[in-house]
Amino acid sequence: MAAYARVALSVPLRDALTYSVPKHLQDALVPGCRVQVPLGRRSMTGVVVGLDDDTEVDAKKLKSVLARLETPALPPALLELTRCMAEEYACPWGVALDAAWPASLKRRSAKTVAGIAFAREEGELESEALLLEDKAPKRARVLRAVLELGSPAPVQLVMRRTGVSKAPLATLVKHGLLQWARIDQEDELLEQSRHERAERHELVPAQRAAVDRVKEAIAAGRHETFVLHGATGSGKTEVYLRVLEEVRKLGRSAIILVPEISLTPQTVGRFLSRFPEVAVLHSGLTDAERARQWLRLARSQAHVVVGARSALFAPVRNLGLIVVDEEHESSFKQQQAPRYHARESAVMRGSIENAPVVLGSATPSVEAWARAKSGRYTLLEMPKRVGGGELPRVVLVDMRHEKPIKGNPPLMSKQLTNLIEERLKVREQVMLFLNRRGFAPVLYCSACGETIKCKDCDAPMAWHSARGRLACHHCMADMRRPELCPTCKASPPVALGSGTERVEDWVRRRFPEAVVARMDSDTMLKRESYEKVLSAVRCGDVDILVGTQMIAKGLDFPNVTLVGVVSADTGLFQPDFRAAERTFQTLSQVAGRAGRGKLKGLVVFQTLCAQSDPVMRAAQLDYEGFITSELDARRTLSYPPFGRLVRIVVEARQLAAAAKRAREIADNLRSAAAEFSVLGPAAAPLSRVRSRFRVHVLVKAHTVPGFAAVRRLLDGLEGTGDRTLRVLVDVDPVSLM
Ligand code: ADP
Ligand code: ZN
Repeated sequence: MAAYARVALSVPLRDALTYSVPKHLQDALVPGCRVQVPLGRRSMTGVVVGLDDDTEVDAKKLKSVLARLETPALPPALLELTRCMAEEYACPWGVALDAAWPASLKRRSAKTVAGIAFAREEGELESEALLLEDKAPKRARVLRAVLELGSPAPVQLVMRRTGVSKAPLATLVKHGLLQWARIDQEDELLEQSRHERAERHELVPAQRAAVDRVKEAIAAGRHETFVLHGATGSGKTEVYLRVLEEVRKLGRSAIILVPEISLTPQTVGRFLSRFPEVAVLHSGLTDAERARQWLRLARSQAHVVVGARSALFAPVRNLGLIVVDEEHESSFKQQQAPRYHARESAVMRGSIENAPVVLGSATPSVEAWARAKSGRYTLLEMPKRVGGGELPRVVLVDMRHEKPIKGNPPLMSKQLTNLIEERLKVREQVMLFLNRRGFAPVLYCSACGETIKCKDCDAPMAWHSARGRLACHHCMADMRRPELCPTCKASPPVALGSGTERVEDWVRRRFPEAVVARMDSDTMLKRESYEKVLSAVRCGDVDILVGTQMIAKGLDFPNVTLVGVVSADTGLFQPDFRAAERTFQTLSQVAGRAGRGKLKGLVVFQTLCAQSDPVMRAAQLDYEGFITSELDARRTLSYPPFGRLVRIVVEARQLAAAAKRAREIADNLRSAAAEFSVLGPAAAPLSRVRSRFRVHVLVKAHTVPGFAAVRRLLDGLEGTGDRTLRVLVDVDPVSLM
């Protein structure tokens, strides 16, 4: 009968607080359960992280736990994991714990969820959406989203898709266009793809060797981290599936993490066809569905989960394996508190639960590679494609040598155009990749030289010709394209640079007979559209697939024999020390989509920087060459993985306030600087977002004690501030923007 409970709260406090447990709750509380407690004059929810018979705190001063909430308790391993994560990522334990439950399980339980439905005919709503375009773009967006999703649509989903608050929805209801509705959780169930087949192949020797090494660790119940460095098409997924069989044979459970973007029906289907009980967690699910999947895992009705980043918190017991596929992906880092990296946290969880962890990639992150080289992780190599398929050949096309159009390099080179034409003739498929959506990233006035910027962000608005709108990719604001430059009113602004829409437009003009599909977050609002396009490509109904990152990852289409990268340089000049690594990884991934079947693949990189290291090495498929020189560069500048980086961002409505607070933080760190160095404060490259100025401070810790010292100094800083000013602490940031 524990009389005291230690409760972690999501407030900027390092330690859990002790409360007394009233008699009637003594049986009800267990570690990992959620409770209601008083804090100051407020009442808050928190998580019980420990129960004690005694306390050193003066018992008379203690307040009591008010109630236990219905939310299922977390297993002990997750308490430990979140504690380590809080420590590692400098955030309150309560904040890390909060991430472990799906949102809807934290609310009062309900059989239905809030929905919003049509109150008029669909056609009427469509014309209404057009009318609202300019007057009320947010409302127009909501209408379009509900039309897309179908009636009734979950309110949550509509808000997430459109990035708006509830207000525009309420207005639409008030005007009689939409109406509130309740949606049954059961109806919400999304159909999982069962079309994909994953035949069980005879393993090739490299796969066999990899599987055997991991199996050995599984059998021994030993934590060991493996870096599975396998070329694109080397059969990494088959390795995961085999290892998974072993885990299940032993009655243990497994977590497979994949980047959100490659949680395609294709990938998910491959797991489902071999393990029908798999739980799937991704952002396309509604909250209710996510909760259902989570509960299936918690109740041991499912033992394997395939999911994005947050599936790391799956409440499985008796964990036998964690796989992180495409571990180099920056989307494994969460951008809100807790700002954890799922790869690093997976290794933490594996070590807590004595489970092996497999980090798979064709282009391992510098972090994983450095540790594999130093012997901390075990390196498993699969350099060849399975089935004797050859890796594609890459041709670099130097766009500086192309005949300019109006003084600018053309969108497509002669060579790529000819190659596309050839493929169309023999009915092979083509993918055209450009890591930028919209028609053009910037509208520019040739008279005064100004670009059209978002009024709330320090960033140009992109031109989306399909929607006929300018959109800010940072705050989702949109507006109509002005006839004349808003600054000088002298001439109409022109589109500068290109995005996927322009590529699609070009293809349709140049090859009117070809069937073209575009895949980016604008066209793929619905998960079903994703599935539709993918299966059209698969059946050969699409000749040319144009897309962003969405087509770069994980897709396996044997009839694609030509991949064109419209511009290999889009990410090269980001003010970020990871720009080279990211460019190399993306180019290698895209190149890997070509020639995955019996037909040989050809890849074209169009570039203005043919001499840049990442572009050149990616073209030579030379991972080791790239990573070796990249590691040298990082070592010289003590960037990760040599030393750790912490970024502190202060956001405020007033620039002066942000700068002042950032200066205080930097001075405080500097006064203690020992084995770390402090850079800044300086304006963040993205200096204003959603009307908030952003000032940042960077800390480089050169040693482990240095990092520990920084960590201590930053204690309790994350999440401080008020409505006008916010302090964010980002340990191991993946973006310095
Ligand atoms: P990766 O994830 O490394 O890019 P995949 O796992 O997608 O590679 O495998 C590429 C293709 O090879 C898939 O179509 C898969 O079904 C097939 N494959 C995998 N292993 C084998 C094998 N041992 N023999 C024949 N085909 C295989
Ligand atoms: Zn904006």
